[in-house]
Amino acid sequence: LFVTFEGGEGAGKSTQIRKLAESLRSRGFDVLLTREPGGSPGAEAVRHVLLSGAAQPFGTRMEAILFAAARNDHVEGVIRPALNGGRVVLCDRFMDSSRVYQGITGNLEPEFIETLQRVAINGVMPDCTVILDLPATAGLERASRRGAAVAIAPDRFEREELETHEKRREAFLDIAAREPERCHVLDALRPEDVIAADVLTIVERRLPL
Ligand code: C5P
Repeated sequence: LFVTFEGGEGAGKSTQIRKLAESLRSRGFDVLLTREPGGSPGAEAVRHVLLSGAAQPFGTRMEAILFAAARNDHVEGVIRPALNGGRVVLCDRFMDSSRVYQGITGNLEPEFIETLQRVAINGVMPDCTVILDLPATAGLERASRRGAAVAIAPDRFEREELETHEKRREAFLDIAAREPERCHVLDALRPEDVIAADVLTIVERRLPL
């Protein structure tokens, strides 16, 4: 089973994915927890370039291709082998982030993005996608608090304006509306444990018993 988590900054993806991994492991499932951009040595190297100042002169089209290159490396080197081995794979961000970040707010043509995704995932589609939804103001506030607490400067994507974040929120909701079988939207403003219980219910329905 392949489950992806999506949403804007500060939606609580990492917290929820960790909680889900714990719950599934305690039920005896062999879980692989991974993330994008990154998740394999090659893709982590690309992540480092993309999230640092070094990516400044790249342009959105080049960036989108690099995200796709990293995704393909991650899929072929890590995700596909794990799924073939019968593991449950949980991934923090996947192709929907590219549709939203590079496609919608990067202003790239949908056909270009979809072609890249087809090449990148090469048939490895998520069975289930959890979209953690919250207003941009709330997400940004959480993300900046997290930054302050651990004294890490916000990455260059997190410095973008509120408007961009609202656009992304709408774009994730549009994807969910187009693919209701795969996508589940959860209100991320609720308490952590309430969200975690919902996530577990959604995923349990898809697990082989
Ligand atoms: O998941 P996390 O928030 O740590 O992702 C790191 C950064 O990469 C985010 O700030 C996000 O804006 C950016 N990103 C992106 N395009 C993707 C995936 C992530 O711009 N396809």
